[in-house]
Amino acid sequence: MKRVLVVGASLAGLCTAEALRRNGYDGSLTLVGDEQAMPYDRPPLSKQLLSGDWAPERTALRSDEALAALEVEFRLGERARALDPVAKTVELSGGSSLPYDALVVATGARPRSLPGLRGLEGVHTLRTLGDALALRDALAKRPRVVIVGGGFVGAEVAAEARRRDLPVTLVEALPVPLSRGLGERMGEACARLHVRNGVRVLCGRAVAGFDGDTAVERVRLEDGSTIDADLVVVGIGATPAVGWLADSGIRLDDGVLCDAYCRASAPDVYAAGDVARWFHPGYGRHVRLENWTNAREQAAVVARNMLDPGSPVEYTPVPYVWSDQYGTRIQLAGRSSGDVRIVHEGEDQESLLALYRDGDRFEGALAINSARRLLDCRRLLARGADWHEALATAA
Ligand SMILES: Cc1cc2nc3c(=O)[nH]c(=O)nc-3n(C[C@H](O)[C@H](O)[C@H](O)COP(=O)(O)OP(=O)(O)OC[C@H]3O[C@@H](n4cnc5c(N)ncnc54)[C@H](O)[C@@H]3O)c2cc1C
Repeated sequence: MKRVLVVGASLAGLCTAEALRRNGYDGSLTLVGDEQAMPYDRPPLSKQLLSGDWAPERTALRSDEALAALEVEFRLGERARALDPVAKTVELSGGSSLPYDALVVATGARPRSLPGLRGLEGVHTLRTLGDALALRDALAKRPRVVIVGGGFVGAEVAAEARRRDLPVTLVEALPVPLSRGLGERMGEACARLHVRNGVRVLCGRAVAGFDGDTAVERVRLEDGSTIDADLVVVGIGATPAVGWLADSGIRLDDGVLCDAYCRASAPDVYAAGDVARWFHPGYGRHVRLENWTNAREQAAVVARNMLDPGSPVEYTPVPYVWSDQYGTRIQLAGRSSGDVRIVHEGEDQESLLALYRDGDRFEGALAINSARRLLDCRRLLARGADWHEALATAA
């Protein structure tokens, strides 16, 4: 392996490159990314950057010196447009074609939008540094804010808008925000945070459309009601960025479909981060995770398997995601499937630890302002502790 090509110059792509170098790879390494900026971190976009606590430069994932030491050729501002897995080349938007011996797909995900939004001012999604700066400027104009979707990113924007004392309405199509991911009870616990902080939460209400000539003025709901708005943030999830692979013959199914070793369906093609849907041996099914920890951990396994393809290791992480809202940290480790039991609840309802079980199997833990307890749970999950041990440790 003399030429490694990584498409997607963000967390997963950069971490793969670093892990390759750390493990002794000294061949050529090229990172192609369609954003202009050097790799930056996304979690601060909806937190410290949006609040103005951080300048944009602080989101850089690595210093210039660290990037230079990696000896990577960065092709930034260039989009991969097609893959030919037989010729082993990737075609770029500028028309050039890059050959590879091994390829890593790390193109992440793009935010979902809603029909009828194109060109309407005041409507935002949040994925890139540019998105975050535009949203920060818009918030400074003291708009009436509507958040569409009750996921973590939208929730963090709602929290920042309330910190600025702006009127915020959160519209969620499900009866309970986050209930698909966390179950109804824990979804309600997270939704309470919004209500306590003055957000008007409308659940079980779907958006029908938006009114306004050039800029948004109103959000129309399917029940016929309307909400006046100057700023709408659409936070209804993201879809894996696989459009450029459509004609490649690589198997795609809600992401790049990979085996337990993070290998895609063509020789010497791997995937890491938000774009990868791989077979998780511990869960017995394919999984795609959109979180920071997964992008780093999966990148390390991909690099390891690229360097030693004869004895690859399986990727079996304990999923972990966090979110910061209203000065509160929410953390989820493992899976939020099966029954849930609250094992700790602060009197003020500001802290909570809930455990998920499937029979005797300990599946996951949700913590609100309970970081130390969550850490214990992560350790238990990593070594496959059963429900009784989890209960005894966490209680
Ligand atoms: C606002 C926000 C807040 C978040 N907060 C948290 C948090 O608190 N906790 C947490 O665990 N996770 C959080 N996340 C999720 C976390 O940031 C992502 O899981 C992580 O960034 C995934 O990294 P990635 O490298 O796989 O994908 P990305 O970071 O999406 O990077 C993919 C890169 O590939 C580029 N690309 C796409 N297509 C092409 C192409 N065809 N050619 C070239 N380049 C291409 C993209 O432009 C992008 O630069 C947050 C995400 C966002 C957006």
